[in-house]
Amino acid sequence: MTERKVVLSLVRATGRLHLGNYLGAARDFAELSRDETKECYFGVADLHALTTLPDPQELAASSRAVARDYLAAGIDPERASLFLQSAVPETSELFWLLTNVTAAGELQRSKTFKEMSAKQADNVNAGLLNYPILMAADILGPEADLVPVGEDQLAHLEMARNIAQRFNHRYGELLKTPEGYRKKAIRIPGLDGKGKMSKSDGNGFGIADSPEDIWKVLQPAYTDPARKRRTDPGNPEICPIGQIHRFVSPPADVETIETGCRTAGIGCVDCKKILLGNVTELLAPVRERAQALDDAAVDDALRQGAARARKRIQPTLAKVRKAMGL
Ligand code: AMP
Repeated sequence: MTERKVVLSLVRATGRLHLGNYLGAARDFAELSRDETKECYFGVADLHALTTLPDPQELAASSRAVARDYLAAGIDPERASLFLQSAVPETSELFWLLTNVTAAGELQRSKTFKEMSAKQADNVNAGLLNYPILMAADILGPEADLVPVGEDQLAHLEMARNIAQRFNHRYGELLKTPEGYRKKAIRIPGLDGKGKMSKSDGNGFGIADSPEDIWKVLQPAYTDPARKRRTDPGNPEICPIGQIHRFVSPPADVETIETGCRTAGIGCVDCKKILLGNVTELLAPVRERAQALDDAAVDDALRQGAARARKRIQPTLAKVRKAMGL
């Protein structure tokens, strides 16, 4: 049997997954978890979350909620390892070892560090600065071949590659340099019309939300402002609802709403109702799985996943320690 490619991705531990997370990441992870040629590790990055000082109780609850959403999205915990980053202490040890082959200047120049420092000027902690080293440990520990990343994480992946190369240069070819793994990037717009759907902007809906709850946010959602009255024509290209239709609706519905919008043949409320129907259908299996998952099942998946991840990382840590003289 040929060796399976190791896939690794960590997801932020904050906030529930929304439609953008599902279409842009979680659905692909679920598919990868069922791919016989891949061995997948999916971590919930609760250690990374500490850099933004979340409330302890909220962090604990949110980490589990994110894990639950990923299971609901269809990640098979028997095949893929889903774990909390903090349940794999080997990663934290590797992190410290790697800090010593990381150039401080590279961290200081990081765009994300600069952005985050500006965003939380009263809490510029060293975790924010060292974030990419922890991410490198996440990736290099399990000797990941493929790291599915969004555009925003490409620079961090590059840093992980640099860290591995610097380590190998000094101590011998021990660490595997990972590759990014990207499908064509998609961008689901937020319902406020201000940018992409994002957890921090609260401009989306959860993947396991009921149709009633989804409608509560869909009904008042931003649409093309040119359509002040039902009889005003609009442009579906600049309307988030029109754009989301393209990702979730069958071609016939897309045709109906796009022509209807341009000719004022359909009102925004009807357009949103069609979207609600299609989103509900798309997410029905997710909701079903979410309802069937109790806390024990989530904890069980996390326990199993952490045990497998630790086993995978331990040999890497052992050879790194030895090479460094520990
Ligand atoms: P985040 O909520 O930033 O932790 O997002 C995790 C991953 O979900 C990202 O790396 C993207 O792959 C995906 N994602 C998040 N928001 C969107 C969006 N609005 N459209 C498409 N994909 C998204």
